Amino acid sequence: MSEEVDEEPLRMTRGGDTAATGAERFAGVPGRWFRRTALPLLLILVCPPTVILLWMITVHFNGSLTLFFRTADLDTILALVPRPTWRAAGVLLFWAVLQAVLLIVLPGKTHYGPVTPKGNRPRYKLNGIPAYIVTHGLLYLGAYPLGLFSPTIVYDEFGSILVICNVFGLIFCVFLYLKGVYFPSTTDAGRSGNLIFDYYWGVELHPSLFGLSLKQYINCRLAMMGWSVILLSFAAKQVELYGHLSSSMLVSVGLQLVYIVHFFVWEGGYFGSLDIMHDRFGFYICWGITVWLPCVYTLVGLYLVDHPIALPIPYAVFLAGVGLAAIWADGDANRQRQRVRETGGDTTVWRRKPELIEAEYTTEDGETRKSLLLVSGWWGISRHFHYVAEITAALAWTLPAMFENLLPYFYVIFLTILLVHRAGRDDRRCRKKYGRYWKQYCERVPYRIIPYVY
Ligand code: NDP
Repeated sequence: MSEEVDEEPLRMTRGGDTAATGAERFAGVPGRWFRRTALPLLLILVCPPTVILLWMITVHFNGSLTLFFRTADLDTILALVPRPTWRAAGVLLFWAVLQAVLLIVLPGKTHYGPVTPKGNRPRYKLNGIPAYIVTHGLLYLGAYPLGLFSPTIVYDEFGSILVICNVFGLIFCVFLYLKGVYFPSTTDAGRSGNLIFDYYWGVELHPSLFGLSLKQYINCRLAMMGWSVILLSFAAKQVELYGHLSSSMLVSVGLQLVYIVHFFVWEGGYFGSLDIMHDRFGFYICWGITVWLPCVYTLVGLYLVDHPIALPIPYAVFLAGVGLAAIWADGDANRQRQRVRETGGDTTVWRRKPELIEAEYTTEDGETRKSLLLVSGWWGISRHFHYVAEITAALAWTLPAMFENLLPYFYVIFLTILLVHRAGRDDRRCRKKYGRYWKQYCERVPYRIIPYVY
């Protein structure tokens, strides 16, 4: 089952790129080695300790990179590496079981994801909002009226939680690799034969276990739902330490909670995003979502615990307004695309009949299929204008940290790099998939993210 997998593994073609000549291929060898072996290996080696260092600098060095680099020597760093605890393991086990049970037992509509290159259609259960309500209700009951555990437990154990997630995530990606090779869930599995790349990128597109879609379970329920619970625990810690919730924490956490709840309202749309329909489930997505997301995405919240900044009211209102508008615009762009496709174009976009390109593509089973490319609304401003909204929202919930330290901005900087790279990656993928239809779209909407800039 050794199948050649490209970084853009869809081999859907419709008048797409011409095949590379032998000379071109040879010229690309060092670049390919860098993309397929060196860079993945570097990320696998560097990202896991980075997560621990980010936590350490935030908690033990007042969130100051300068203080860390001036004062920390190797012995100090090693002494501060959190050790795994049974309590942290218990928290994680409880979380994993709770989310699996809720995903299985709570009712929800069946949702079919986009057709895969092999012609399969993954199936999901849409019960994200009920699961969100039940999760938060249960945790509230357990922490406050019943007093079964402290609401600050996640904050208190966060270092150990990250260490356990890190070790588990790295081992689980080995399991995913072996499962993909020997027991793939669908015919979409494929590998390049380069062990490092296959571990990094993954083998399966839609792995499932006991009938559970691992991408839905891990990405949506463990990670996205976890993001919300982690932030609430950080907020509870600030109240415990300082006796009140600062306005900076309120604005930052409030905006992120709106973003997360909005994500669950739109959960069906997420199954048409690149993470789900394109990226295989290996270190890049699986470790990223189980370790990188809980640490990096919540970093500003962790920082604010010990920086209870009181924001001037007009500034707080301004940030909240900008953040809400950006979250709405991001969601609106996703909804426009989804609505246009669901209705076959028989809808309005910004109160007008949408301009569309009826694109054709061929899947690997040889079948020709059709898809609509929207040229109006947000998708007519630039090809990924919603990335501007995504970054603006993240900036709005980071700016409450003010400007004493750079560290809380780590997520916004990372997100900007990720999305600029992603826009290019998506363009290459769509060019391969839609060929001349994508060229037509690019001619009508020439900029990738910001009109006249990029
Ligand atoms: P996009 O929302 O950019 O979707 C890209 C896909 O949409 C393309 O592959 C293509 O898929 C389809 N498409 C492209 N152009 C058009 C068009 N004009 N009309 C209709 N369909 C089109 O994908 P992402 O997965 O990057 O983003 C999904 C959401 O997740 C966004 O809101 C984004 O901001 C957010 N995000 C957040 C991240 C974070 O870490 N916070 C990281 C990445 C994304 P098809 O094959 O179906 O045609």
